[in-house]
Amino acid sequence: MYHDAKPEVFAKHLDYLSRHWTVISLDTLVAAIYQKDFSRIPAKSVVITIDDGHAGNIELLPVFKQHRIRPTLFVCTQIINTHRHFWFKIDGQSKAEKERLKRIPNAERLAHLKRTTDFEPEHVYPDRQALSITEMKEMEQNVDFQPHTQFHPILPHCTDAECKQEILGSKVDLEGLLGIECSHFSYPNGDYTEREIEIVKASGFRSARTTVIGWNTLETAPYQLKTIPINDDAGFALFRAQLTTVPQRLNQVLNSLLRNGF
Ligand SMILES: [Zn+2]
Repeated sequence: MYHDAKPEVFAKHLDYLSRHWTVISLDTLVAAIYQKDFSRIPAKSVVITIDDGHAGNIELLPVFKQHRIRPTLFVCTQIINTHRHFWFKIDGQSKAEKERLKRIPNAERLAHLKRTTDFEPEHVYPDRQALSITEMKEMEQNVDFQPHTQFHPILPHCTDAECKQEILGSKVDLEGLLGIECSHFSYPNGDYTEREIEIVKASGFRSARTTVIGWNTLETAPYQLKTIPINDDAGFALFRAQLTTVPQRLNQVLNSLLRNGF
């Protein structure tokens, strides 16, 4: 899982992956999980997913082409092709404050952002943070575009109506925009409960990716796919280490200790 990696960094990772691993599509992985059969997937296989739809992703296209891979880009469908901004990228909020905002009701988060930064989800800013339709059309052959909600709320803190709108609405948006059929979803910030799984299923998706750290196996539930978060700026040594998932797991332990005032 990447977000907004620079092409030089991403190219180095891909050089390594393409020598030692097989890059497969998300469709291939999900089909194999449903069929309970990994026999046609090479033992060391990876799926590349990139979250949010950051404008900088267009620069990765030459790397996708060079390595003949078709990664999945999960995009926020009401932010792409607009000059709206991602709420988690606005200035004037500390990292701790952003983390706090991920744990409060959706309406409260939006009211707080409006009050403190004048941010509004539908506000049109001078600069563009997300991919444009022209860029997406250029990438379409080499990218599997899938939805990641409309505005990137934290779904478990949304009302039932908001949650349904964000999930199903993003599928309708992207299918309409690109004239494709979307089957895969990823939960913003990796947050989901049974309710989100049910809505994702009912909306017609075949899979959903979480941010639970780990490799996917035949036993993985299709609506709870695991992932290996890779730092967008990871140097080669860190990248190699992160493929083992050890640094990310250590980080998780440290963060939970800090949260609990250790
Ligand atoms: Zn995201």
